[in-house]
Amino acid sequence: MSAGGGARDLAEAGAVLAAEAARFASFGWMRGTSGNLSVVLSRDPLRLAVTASGRDKGELTSADVVLVDERGAAVQGGRPSAEAALHARVAASTGAGAVVHVHTVASVAMGRRKPGGILLRDLEMLKGVGQPAHGVEVRLPVVANSQDMAELGDRLEAARDPRMPAVVVAGHGLYVWGADPRQARHHTEVVEWLLELELTGR
Ligand SMILES: [Zn+2]
Repeated sequence: MSAGGGARDLAEAGAVLAAEAARFASFGWMRGTSGNLSVVLSRDPLRLAVTASGRDKGELTSADVVLVDERGAAVQGGRPSAEAALHARVAASTGAGAVVHVHTVASVAMGRRKPGGILLRDLEMLKGVGQPAHGVEVRLPVVANSQDMAELGDRLEAARDPRMPAVVVAGHGLYVWGADPRQARHHTEVVEWLLELELTGR
């Protein structure tokens, strides 16, 4: 974030996140007011723009965004979701520049079916998360849900596989990350595709 340009940077981030949210909402991945998206605006100190809580994710504007700190507490703007703390945790621990959290049916169904993690191999689509298409088994971790974001963050960090930019939260949804909002979007679409395949294929 540039010095003195905070409000403008936040509005620009809000516009990007609103467009990303509208896309995911159109896929049915942000039903009701569920899910949230974030983008890192500065590393030191860590500051993220996060979508505002309680809004329809298909109707966000550039103003529906909150600036939060490394604990997910609001620095500027309205009320962030409690899940903002987990976005900050993911950004800090993975070095990601953008985080996507969506409540998809496939992630919840597969988390229920494979509570120990979802094994993936021999799929061309694995290239979409930076993995070889053949010969390597990759595990998409599944962690138990919690309403305590510190506890959920601990579980996510412990379970995370550095080869896979995503974690499934059982009974809840999916966290996915990338270097920027575009890569986080691509990773989300690929991981969701893999989950849908596993769901229908077995
Ligand atoms: Zn959620």
